[in-house]
Amino acid sequence: MALNDIKEGEGKSFVGGTHVPHYKSYTDSIAIERMAIPDEVVVHLSQHIGAPCEPLVAVGDTVMLGEKIADADAYITAPLHAPVSGEVTAIEERPNAEGGETMSIVIAAKGEQDAYQPSVERNPDDMSAEELKEAIRDAGLVGMGGAAFPTYVNINTDQPVDTLILNGAECEPFLTCDHRLMLERADELIKGAEILMRCIGAKKTYIAVETNKLDAIGVLDEKLGGRDDMEVVPLAVKYPQGYKSYLIKTITGRDVPRGARSAALGCIVRNVGTTFAAYEAVVYGKPLIERIISVTGPTVPDPGNYVVRVGTKAEHILSECGVDPDELDGAKVIFGGPMTGLAQDNLEVPIVKSTTGVLVLPPEMVREDMVYSDCVRCGLCVQRCPNWLYPNELSILAEHGVYGDLEDWDIWDCIECGVCAYVCPSNRPIVHFIKRAKPIVDEL
Ligand code: SF4
Ligand code: SF4
Repeated sequence: MALNDIKEGEGKSFVGGTHVPHYKSYTDSIAIERMAIPDEVVVHLSQHIGAPCEPLVAVGDTVMLGEKIADADAYITAPLHAPVSGEVTAIEERPNAEGGETMSIVIAAKGEQDAYQPSVERNPDDMSAEELKEAIRDAGLVGMGGAAFPTYVNINTDQPVDTLILNGAECEPFLTCDHRLMLERADELIKGAEILMRCIGAKKTYIAVETNKLDAIGVLDEKLGGRDDMEVVPLAVKYPQGYKSYLIKTITGRDVPRGARSAALGCIVRNVGTTFAAYEAVVYGKPLIERIISVTGPTVPDPGNYVVRVGTKAEHILSECGVDPDELDGAKVIFGGPMTGLAQDNLEVPIVKSTTGVLVLPPEMVREDMVYSDCVRCGLCVQRCPNWLYPNELSILAEHGVYGDLEDWDIWDCIECGVCAYVCPSNRPIVHFIKRAKPIVDEL
């Protein structure tokens, strides 16, 4: 089917999952703009999968925008860079989005706070694959779709990889930052894909986009101009379409066995935001000091897609968008989307490299206090679970503390997508039960 004939909702998909309301119209037509830089940033030393970083600076030091401020010797890690120019005022535990605390470098912004000025201007064609990978490692890139796995580790594979999949599905309701990036920065995104292809030796790139973003599909398809090594793949609008295993299966037909790394299947999947950041890292030497996030929700006076410095606190982001952090009137602030995001009680929590959005849900859209009841064995959750699990059994066992049986019901295969809880007529907080049980099962 020609891409200009495709209609919203059509496209390839996977078995399972569910259709959820999109709520994307609050921000999907708003162009990306820069948010004012805060007076203070809080940079968590652990904001990626792998070893936390160690500070390279001390309290009282002056740091410049983009200067490396923390790193680790471990292989699986990603260095951190100053998101503002200023003075290090503290290195201490600060609240994180998971409700705990993380050792952090606190920087007070001082002096001129200009946009990042390129430290280099390089032509990727003049660089070897190793040099491209080093530039990505030095820039501290991690998966920006939420996974936060260090990009260098992901692309530094000795497995034969033939396929790169750019994840532009953005299947979480409300979020539109990847949509706007594909629309507004398509040329750079395509160049970023070329860089990643050289790093991993892939011969083909598929850009996977749900068909509730037809304008992005059209722009990318036109920019690609029929080239053989890259194509846009329209995906049906279904949650969780953007999950890595489903993308690989949907696009290549390859099954992803339990626990398998995608590279072992000849595929690497990268979020479109990460791919754009790879372009900036290689061409301009730009570290991951800022990212695009959606700030959205029906009551947000000035919603949008904003370039925000890493380490910016939720209270600053909300204020800049017209929300008084002290007058939330029962609204819930969530980092990420409503299906997998994390509710925030403490608005001093800063965004990290993988934060995709700040969502404000009014009380009538929050399920938190909803009364739930016993499982009525309707089977809807089993029918919709994209990983073929029995969420009903998992939730009942976890609720009643029968932790020893949970591995037999494959608790570790749960990706916490939230589909089961969304469809449950008894409003059972299934994911909450599963999340709470996992660390206990891990200790058994
Ligand atoms: S059991 Fe886990 S993987 Fe299955 S639908 Fe529920 S949250 Fe998603
Ligand atoms: S959807 Fe809810 S009520 Fe139905 S089987 Fe699953 S847990 Fe039970």
